[in-house]
Amino acid sequence: MQHIRNFIGGEFKEPASGLWIEKINPATGHTSGSIPDSDQRDVELAVASARDALSRWSETSPQERFLILERIARLIQERNEDLALAETNDTGKPLALSSNVEIPRAASNFRFFATAAMQFSSESHAMPDSINFTLRQPIGIVGCISPWNLPLYLFSWKVAPALAAGNCVVAKPSELSPTTAYLLGEICQEAGLPPGVLNIVHGLGFKTGEAIVRHPDIKAISFTGGTQTGKTISSITGPMFKKTSLELGGKNPCLVFEDCDFDKTVSEVARLAFSNQGQICLCGSRILVQRSIYERFRDALVQKAEKLRIGDPLDEHTQFGSLISEAHLKKVMGYIDLARQEGGICLTGGEIFRPEGRCKNGFFLRPTIFEGLGPSCRVNQEEVFGPVITLQVFEDETEALALANDSPYGLAATLWTRDLSRAHRVANKIQTGIVWVNCWLNRDLRTPFGGVRQSGVGREGGWEAMKFFTEPKNVCIQYSK
Ligand code: NAD
Repeated sequence: MQHIRNFIGGEFKEPASGLWIEKINPATGHTSGSIPDSDQRDVELAVASARDALSRWSETSPQERFLILERIARLIQERNEDLALAETNDTGKPLALSSNVEIPRAASNFRFFATAAMQFSSESHAMPDSINFTLRQPIGIVGCISPWNLPLYLFSWKVAPALAAGNCVVAKPSELSPTTAYLLGEICQEAGLPPGVLNIVHGLGFKTGEAIVRHPDIKAISFTGGTQTGKTISSITGPMFKKTSLELGGKNPCLVFEDCDFDKTVSEVARLAFSNQGQICLCGSRILVQRSIYERFRDALVQKAEKLRIGDPLDEHTQFGSLISEAHLKKVMGYIDLARQEGGICLTGGEIFRPEGRCKNGFFLRPTIFEGLGPSCRVNQEEVFGPVITLQVFEDETEALALANDSPYGLAATLWTRDLSRAHRVANKIQTGIVWVNCWLNRDLRTPFGGVRQSGVGREGGWEAMKFFTEPKNVCIQYSK
């Protein structure tokens, strides 16, 4: 049982309300601990601590910030085993995924932005008799709110650049997956991060999250989560003129052309569809396949999906774990029912899976593939955020593009082709923030990360993040010749 507490002013604190929320391990269905049911009072305390720490932290040298963030990265690496176990117990994802990918990537985020602190620079613009230079100053106190699907990875993706740029942070992880953020508090203590520079407040979105968003002293909000939540947040931050970055949902197309490397594409499409049980914002869910290879591709993909080893996430052989919660499982099952009502044919999956043993009450669903659903069906338009994909057929490049762009979302697309000219043409015309050609989830932390349309506003990653977390100020100096 894990009794999680807020991390405020460098100390672990109970919530002002004295109330707690039950935490469930989704792979077993059992209670695994509790988290604070924080409210405005806890956020107020966190803001006060951040305020006290701000002038010192914002004036630390880049070198000093680098050293502390680098220590945090190292300590995450050293504690990989317990962080990975916590991540898996909170989310139901395979332990191998947590320990080989997600926790190492969280360490990389801190290391990357540690070096960014050292290398960040600004521009100057010369005129015949004057020079402009742009100061990039920390914003002040910023709010970072993250979702449950890649908990520490996405939390650190925001917190690390915010700290590197010299801000103090009030952050909230998802109430469904809070443990690694809690452990990060311990790591920050050990790494020597001054008290109040990072404050982590746990609780519910509409209560704790909204208190962060509404607080007048929190000058910027970096949010990752659902599109509906993003709308609520921007309706609050808009009239307050708060700088806001929104990384939201997706309904990502995957375009498979007849000249693709067939075997590699089948394997990679299975991976991009079902990694983390389809609960990655970048997962492909609309698989568009050229008619000449459709049946062969469909059958090979179904076979791959059926071979995924589903079960106890702590088993080292497991490739496919549980969904995040009972409520989410019900939501995803609702989409499976809808797909059937809309005339879809279920090629595999479509049903709950009950493992033997300790996970018999967990929230498992088999990887699911539908065909026969047109582009305007709700299942092809709305984000399911689970292991449910659809297959659609296209004749040529024009039709593939029309299908791919027929979506209110625009986060990420993948193209599978050996024709270089086609790759360029299609990548140019696809309406998403990210395009991968013959690969998926190949990440370079310097690149801009984010989506268009209902997938969000703004970009994270590299200088984009450092620019978001700083305020530019132009200084123009005239001199006599
Ligand atoms: P969510 O929007 O329900 O919650 C995200 C976070 O916001 C949580 O910490 C939650 O407590 C908080 N929150 C909820 N309501 C709030 C409010 N009114 N004010 C302030 N905070 C509030 O999303 P989720 O279910 O945790 O995550 C899944 C969603 O996140 C999916 O839609 C997925 O596509 C999206 N996502 C997007 C990206 C991206 O980079 N674009 C990455 C991961 C996940």
